[in-house]
Amino acid sequence: MQKTIIVTGGGRGIGLAVIKRFVADGDTVVATDLKFGDEAKALAASANGKLTLVEGDVSKPADVAALVADAIARHGHIDILVNNAGVLLSKATVDTTIEDWTRVIAINLTGTWNCLHAVLPGMIARRSGRIINISSELGLIGFATYAAYCASKGGVIALTKAVAKEVAPHGVLVNSVAPGPIETDMLKYDTIEFNDETREQIPLRRFGQPDEIAAAVHFLAGPGGSYMVGQIISPNGGTAI
Ligand code: NAD
Repeated sequence: MQKTIIVTGGGRGIGLAVIKRFVADGDTVVATDLKFGDEAKALAASANGKLTLVEGDVSKPADVAALVADAIARHGHIDILVNNAGVLLSKATVDTTIEDWTRVIAINLTGTWNCLHAVLPGMIARRSGRIINISSELGLIGFATYAAYCASKGGVIALTKAVAKEVAPHGVLVNSVAPGPIETDMLKYDTIEFNDETREQIPLRRFGQPDEIAAAVHFLAGPGGSYMVGQIISPNGGTAI
């Protein structure tokens, strides 16, 4: 059966790969991002109305409310939410300002909460729904100079587990995918030397690709994920075992 899916941060990288995977299945996707580039626009133009792009900021409750209202008005209900929008911050803790900290938490953690909070009433009423939160392996293991990012993603993991226990009795399944280093624009945040060193430390000796994360999301959203509750799946090439 075809599904209606909201994907946040769908403009590029992992979010765009997730969108492509669902669109290829014939599902209907409403994607949000701060801004959409040519690739997402071209995909929407060729998707025969199956992909809607809505510009907005997940850290703003009003944007999220408008997004969810729009998706429900167009498609009746939401089957799946993929909370993917996120930002990286690499800074020593002593150099991190309160503005840095607040921004990372507002987008990565509060943004995730804003979206799941907005879709849950409809999912609970229908006794059906899947929510997949993109966290990070760094939220599991920590990493020097990434404290705000790690805290935000560790928060997403704890949020996933708590909400999963709360809403599973209502038929809504909440899980998380915690990627290792994936080859997207986010990696460009670090230097080439840092990335070369990181790659050498990965047991698989390569970065992951966005579609390898989309595959994990697709599994959790599909029939294979029917008994998954509050789980953290980490495709990471062996970096965190
Ligand atoms: P990316 O930077 O290529 O994509 C992130 C997308 O989120 C961008 O399109 C950006 O515009 C959007 N975004 C940022 N702030 C937003 C906001 N306030 N509202 C709406 N959209 C917003 O990075 P990516 O690697 O594709 O990251 C996707 C997710 O995967 C993020 O949550 C990231 O933390 C997580 N992740 C990435 C890696 C990696 O190595 N690439 C590893 C672990 C986790």
